[in-house]
Amino acid sequence: MDRAPARAVAQPAARALGVVIYIVLGGVAAIATGIGLFGSYEPIVMLVLGLAALLALILSAWLRRPSRLWPWVAIASALALFIISALARAAYGTLGNLTASRSLVPDLIVLPGYLLLAAGLFGFAPPSEHRPRDKSSIVLDGVIAALSFAALAWVFAIEPVLARHSSPLSLQLVLIAYPSTDLFLLVVTMRIAFSRGSDPVPAYWLLLAALSLMFVGDALYVFADLDLFHYPAGILDLPYALAYLCAGAAAMHPSMRSLTEPNRRRPATTSRGRIALVAVALLVPALLMLSPQIENTTTRWGLFLILLALGAAAVLRIVWALNAAAHSEARLVFQATHDGLTGLPNRLLMEQHLTRLLEQPAADVQVALLFLDLDRFKLVNDTLGHSHGDELLVRVAERLRANVKSTDMVTRIGGDEFMIVLGDVVSVSQALDMANRLRLCLRDPFMVGDMDFYVTASIGLAFASGDDVHATSEALVRDADTAMYQAKDAGRDAVAVFDESMRKRITERMELESDLRSAVALDQLFLVYQPIVRLPAGPVIGVEALVRWLHPTYGVIPPAKFIPLAEESGLIGEIGSWVLEEAVAQLALWSRRSPELEPLYVSVNLSGAQLRDELIVQRVREVITANGLPGSSVALELTESVLMEDPDAAAVTLGELRKLGVRVAIDDFGSEYSSLAYLKRFPATILKIDKSFVDGLVQADSADATLIAAVVAMGRALGITTMAEGVETAAQAKRLLELGCEEVQGFLYSRPVRADKLLEVVESLRAHGLHAIPDRVRRQRPEVSIPTGSGPL
Ligand code: C2E
Ligand code: CA
Ligand code: CA
Repeated sequence: MDRAPARAVAQPAARALGVVIYIVLGGVAAIATGIGLFGSYEPIVMLVLGLAALLALILSAWLRRPSRLWPWVAIASALALFIISALARAAYGTLGNLTASRSLVPDLIVLPGYLLLAAGLFGFAPPSEHRPRDKSSIVLDGVIAALSFAALAWVFAIEPVLARHSSPLSLQLVLIAYPSTDLFLLVVTMRIAFSRGSDPVPAYWLLLAALSLMFVGDALYVFADLDLFHYPAGILDLPYALAYLCAGAAAMHPSMRSLTEPNRRRPATTSRGRIALVAVALLVPALLMLSPQIENTTTRWGLFLILLALGAAAVLRIVWALNAAAHSEARLVFQATHDGLTGLPNRLLMEQHLTRLLEQPAADVQVALLFLDLDRFKLVNDTLGHSHGDELLVRVAERLRANVKSTDMVTRIGGDEFMIVLGDVVSVSQALDMANRLRLCLRDPFMVGDMDFYVTASIGLAFASGDDVHATSEALVRDADTAMYQAKDAGRDAVAVFDESMRKRITERMELESDLRSAVALDQLFLVYQPIVRLPAGPVIGVEALVRWLHPTYGVIPPAKFIPLAEESGLIGEIGSWVLEEAVAQLALWSRRSPELEPLYVSVNLSGAQLRDELIVQRVREVITANGLPGSSVALELTESVLMEDPDAAAVTLGELRKLGVRVAIDDFGSEYSSLAYLKRFPATILKIDKSFVDGLVQADSADATLIAAVVAMGRALGITTMAEGVETAAQAKRLLELGCEEVQGFLYSRPVRADKLLEVVESLRAHGLHAIPDRVRRQRPEVSIPTGSGPL
């Protein structure tokens, strides 16, 4: 709605004024009616009050725009019918004349009015798709109240009177139907109001007041009609006048909108109010025992039927209540034993099931447990959001369940981890087949949203045979978990079967990780340097710094063993910084000590976490300026996979590093993505062709040679230096030279050596020329076996 701001401000004030005028005028008019001030004009005043309420209802529904309009429309229509019926009644003048000549016309008009009113009030019940019984039980409560009232009123009010007069049964029924219906509507509305979970809003209280007043009015009418009491007409009309007023006010109150809002809280399953209601229903027959003997057989039968209906309703109500309680208990049990997202059994149920299987006495029982963890699932959540992640998990759960036997149990134990209990397997190999089948069933893409997702999983398998008395569910879970980590270590998308050595390895790994935490502080890390040589016969132009860990008990540990550990445990940042500072400081030391040497550069390997570190550029800048070196004296090596984790961010960071003059090398080139296309994206200066290409180089018609030639050509076009690593033989070096490769690194020239030996190696490489060295180098002891600084390193 496009409203001018001035009007938008003015409107609430105007509305509030309208409400105040309506309530004040209406209230005064109602009270004046009650004390009979209007005399013979009273029907007209009542008509005006009714029409005013109708107008208030229609206007409010129009202006306040509740989310559902129809309940208000139904109530307004009911009101209209009530007004018409009142007019008809006044016209016929049948009040207080309980004879066969009393006209039923007004009653026939009111009847659809009540139906509409009931429909409208039901429109305020929160939609409860889960439990359609909720609504039926609300109706039942209303029926119980109405029948109880009808039975009591009949016996204690109508019957005594009718014993004296005689009037048709139809009239008796009509009479009693009014207040009973009012009571029914009142109870229903109360139930709706109080079962919404939150406290009823003012609009509800006003509606309840209107219904209560209708009940009072209709009850008074019954007595008047029965000639039991004689009231002034004003008193008879007062409840209706107030009921109109309350109905109008309910519609006008701002809280009317919340009547059609969906429920926020779950309704309570049992309430004291309902228990009281059933108790009252059961009390009615007892109260009737106190009544005088009823002679009239028709009345007796009528009463009998009412009591029968009442009994049936009460029984039904109790049965439903018990059912609902059992239902909610079953739901609680289900919730406690199942995963909310996928509906699969959870860990609790899985462990119970596993324990049961393991406790079976039969010696031939075999149980296999699969621990399945999706590979790199975090990436899906991080990049596409949790809702996609959740949906993917649901799809995976469905597929897993579709691919196991009915005797197997698929469970989700949290995150992207699933466990599958294979109930009747005869051998490890059969379980392994099953595990591989599950692994492969995930191969087909998953449709989530409108995207295809490719998922792989690492699976650990633990097996227990029936004669293994020590097998417990905990042990099996732990073993399957251990095996799963092994599968991850083996490169993911794999199945690993648990064996005892795995546990040992895991424990060692954990110990190693805790040792690594203090390695930098305890000065246990050191660097070795491997010369980088320019072809054909050229000098040493740089060195690659490679880290080693001198462990107090295990000796020198190679980086392949502890760098992945450092990456997983978050220690890589600290270690990487230390390597960078140490390597650059060492280079500065060499150039100070041997200024006659051609300037070298030092090449340092960076991990993914280091590249992602926002401070990396600043850190590199600080290190080079602190050591008084030009940017070109440092090279940073990054593998393809590290660059591809977030290519856009990597390109930005590399660009900033290049601005410092730092060299950037793409390490292990060709080993993973082998895509030349992405080279253009990264401002690299050096391409380090992976050792695997160099290895196969000298075999006849090697495809590697063609590839290297292509890479060299590409590098030249982009102004990137190509170098080869892992050069071990002179033949490889010769071939690389032929192919146009500019720089080399490898055991042919030198193994990585300790800092204090480097200048010696550089000197001897220069003195002897390239081809004089190989034999001497190859006879050298490998650097990793020498833990102390006094050796040849
Ligand atoms: P990389 O960056 O590819 O390093 C080259 C590896 O090849 C080194 O192993 C080196 O000793 C070895 N190598 C050099 N020439 C030859 C040869 O002719 N034949 C053979 N067979 N091997 C040769 P190293 O020192 O064990 O390092 C292994 C990996 O550990 C490195 O591979 C690098 O990825 C990582 N690494 C080493 N130091 C660091 C570091 O300070 N930080 C990070 N993040 N990673 C490091
Ligand atoms: Ca490297
Ligand atoms: Ca490499």
